[in-house]
Parts: sequence; structure tokens; C-alpha cells
Amino acid sequence: MKYLIYARVSPKGSSWDGNETSVKMQIQMCRDYIKARGGTVLRELSDEFFSAKDKNRPGLQELLAELKSGTAEWDTLIVYRLDRLTRSLRDGGEIFEMLRENAKGFVSITENIDFSSPVGRAMMSIINVFAQFEREQTAERVKHKMVSIAEKGEFPVSVPPFAYMRGEKHDNVLKVDPRKAEIVKDIFNMYASNIQTMDIAKKYHGTISKQGILNMLRNKAYAGKIVYAGKEYQGKHDRIIQEELFDKVQAKLPQTTNGGRSRPKSQKYPYILSGLVHCHCGRYMTPASMKSGSFHYYRCTDIVNCKTYVSAPAIENAVLGKINQLDTQPEMIMEITDEIKRQKTEFLKENKPNIANLNNAIINVNLEINKIENAFLSGLVNSQNKDFWNEKLSKLLEEKKELSLRKENLQKVVSNLETELFNDADFLTQQLKTFNDALKNNPNDPDTRRTAILANIKEITRTGDERFYLKLNYSTPNGKDWLPRLDSNQD
Ligand SMILES: [Zn+2]
Repeated sequence: MKYLIYARVSPKGSSWDGNETSVKMQIQMCRDYIKARGGTVLRELSDEFFSAKDKNRPGLQELLAELKSGTAEWDTLIVYRLDRLTRSLRDGGEIFEMLRENAKGFVSITENIDFSSPVGRAMMSIINVFAQFEREQTAERVKHKMVSIAEKGEFPVSVPPFAYMRGEKHDNVLKVDPRKAEIVKDIFNMYASNIQTMDIAKKYHGTISKQGILNMLRNKAYAGKIVYAGKEYQGKHDRIIQEELFDKVQAKLPQTTNGGRSRPKSQKYPYILSGLVHCHCGRYMTPASMKSGSFHYYRCTDIVNCKTYVSAPAIENAVLGKINQLDTQPEMIMEITDEIKRQKTEFLKENKPNIANLNNAIINVNLEINKIENAFLSGLVNSQNKDFWNEKLSKLLEEKKELSLRKENLQKVVSNLETELFNDADFLTQQLKTFNDALKNNPNDPDTRRTAILANIKEITRTGDERFYLKLNYSTPNGKDWLPRLDSNQD
């Protein structure tokens, strides 16, 4: 199966602690997926810093143009996640319809969508249109309703702020709880007179946290306002804090770095070994993290019986350390390049005769062509059999073209291999040096780390004795290497 990879990042970009995966990572994930299924990558298209709403993305336009003109040579379009390709109902529907018309498949790794079979292709447009429509309708309806409530000065979100209550059914106007309102006033007054949040929390016996106090002090509802979707409205409810006190407190509050929103963005841990780690029981080990986000690990997909896991930072650093070590071990590089040389020599031994065979085939086709051309010249071809001979001739010419192309390609591969045979050790040394330099300059950049790993490591297998067997992309039978012992429960 021949794949076209499509990747996109939004105008906000893709620093690793943001919510987006970089184009490089998206492509690599797709490549891994394709590799695991024995497919080939025909091309990659990407749109960096474009919104999914924007239909004039150059990569997407190229993709659509290929489909329109019927010149697409790939079988299946693959994306890291569905929203990389399409967000709006109309645009999405059009793309999927064109894929279907051109009998092209579609795969999205994250959502586990595989529409590369004929049935899947037929389903694709229906499902997409349905799902998008539903989602847009719901989101749009909810937002609309909430904004109209806020505009009226009523409270649109479910849980009212502390010291406020919702009115009777269907009444969204906030009501003051007088007893709790005294607590709010007390907290505002204490803060205004320079009492530390920690001491305020102590006074209330820890029933409200330091962060809870800060959130309360920032909440404009206490000054009679309704804030929704970044906009401020005059509320219908009674204010608990007078304007002067509220403003005084605002001036004292520490600046927030994320535009007033108090909850920090959750950071996504970049699992640079995803798709590479195997458990001793034969299954994959997949990325996982604790709910608190404090512990990241790779876990066996058999969570009932096997339950094996390993700390992500521990194994990642061990693997990168190994790549670094290779660089400093010339004898290891020699062993690897000797094995590569052996494999390439074998390939050449098998394929050089193929070139000769192809050559003979071309000579034979040429003889046939000459015969027909002579028949034309000598007048043996007349108006009755002209069509027959013409058809035969064009078939032979087509065959000659195909054989020549195959021969040309094989010759290219062979001659490349022959040159490489002498340069592998240099190349490998250079590659390792490049990656290790990049890692030294950028030790925490997940893209650099992932690239270095993918360039050198084919798979990582856990053994029963809690060690990990590292299979290099160029591993030799004797080139086995062991990672340091990593206990499953170590952090
Ligand atoms: Zn397992």
C-alpha cells in the first residue's frame, strides 16, 4: 500500500508543552504506522502554521488538485489525527467525498480509523458528515445559549461561585447566601490589609486553599459582573464586594502569566519511545501516565495479567545514553558496518543477475519491435491487418519502457550500494556524531530526542529479568546490547 502523509500545525505553533504535535513528530508517527504494516511512503505534505478552517492551505490544495485531476499515485491518505486534515463540516465532507470518488483510503492513527478497504471507503463520507454535523450543531447551540444567558446578566455555567446560589428552576440569576457572603467580605478585607493568603487559609482551617483564595479574589462575580467566553457583562445579581475594595485587591494580586485564567495548561509528556517498546510477554508497551501527571511510564497492553511497566524518563535516558555510547566505541561501529557490508554484498549477488535478465528481456523486445517495423517497411502490412500490427507494436513499446525503467532503478540501487560499501563506517560515525551533537545542544527537545532514537533504534524489548534488549536499526547478530537494569517500580 502506498501512502501520502499529511501533517499540519495551527498558527499557534507546536512547542512541546503546547497542545500540538509538531509536523516532524506527526510525520514520524505516520511513518512508524506505515512501516509496521509493510507499506511505503510515497510523499509527505504539510502545512505549518495554518488553521484547519483555512481551506487555502498549500499542502491541502496540492492534495485536492491531485484528486481532482486524477493524478494521485498513492492509495491511502494518512494523518496523525483527524483534526490535522479537517475541522469544518463542508470542507471535510468535500475531501472525503473526493477520496471516495478516487477510490482512495484514509487512515487516522489517533482515532484508530482505517478506511483503506473498499467498504471503509464507502462508509467514510457518511460517517464524517454525520459526526461533524452533530458536533458542530451541539457546540454551536450550547455556546449560543450560554452567551444569550450571560448577555442578560445571568449566570450561564453550572456551579455558581462560593456565596452565590442559583434561583428556582430555569432562573439563572445568582442569589446571595448572606452567611457565606460574610466570609467572602472577610477574605477580601484581610487581603486588602496585607494579610498573607497562607494566614487567611489558616484562619479558615484549610477549608479553602491558597489557590482557592486567589481565585476568589479574582472573581468578578463578587463585583456584580458576569464573565463568559472572555467577555464581561453587567450582572443582574447583587455584588458582595464594593467597587473600591475590589479594585484595591486587584491591584495587589500577583500577575498571572496566562491572561487571567488561573488553571495552568496541563503539560503533555512527549513519549519519545512510543511504538518501539515491547514487553517480555510479546505485547507492545504503550505510553501512560498517572492521573496526577507526576509519573509517566510505558505499560504493557495486557493490564490484567502482565501489568509490567517502566518509568518513561528512566528508559528514555538509558536509550539515549546508549546512542551516546555507540559514538565512543569504534569497535562497535566496525562490527555494525561489517554486518551491513555482508548484507549489501548478498543483495548485490542476488540482484546483479536480475540486471542482466532485464537486459536480455529488453534485447528480445527490441528484436520483436524491429520485425514489426520491417513488416511495415516491406509493405506486408495492409489496410486489413494494420490495426492488429499497430496494437502489437504499441504493446511492445510499452513493455520496453517498463523494462527499461525497472533496469534503470535497479542499476541505481546497485551502484549506490557499491559506493556505500566503502563509506558505511564513515557515514555511521558521522550520523552518530550529528545526533549526539544535537542532543548535547538540545538535551530536552523531544523532537531531537525522538529523531535520534528513530534513526538508530529499531525496537526495545524487555526481558524477563527486567532488562531491555536494544535492537539497533543496523544491529548485527553479535551486536546485542543491553540497557542498564531498570526496575519496574523505579521512578
Ligand atoms: Zn507484558
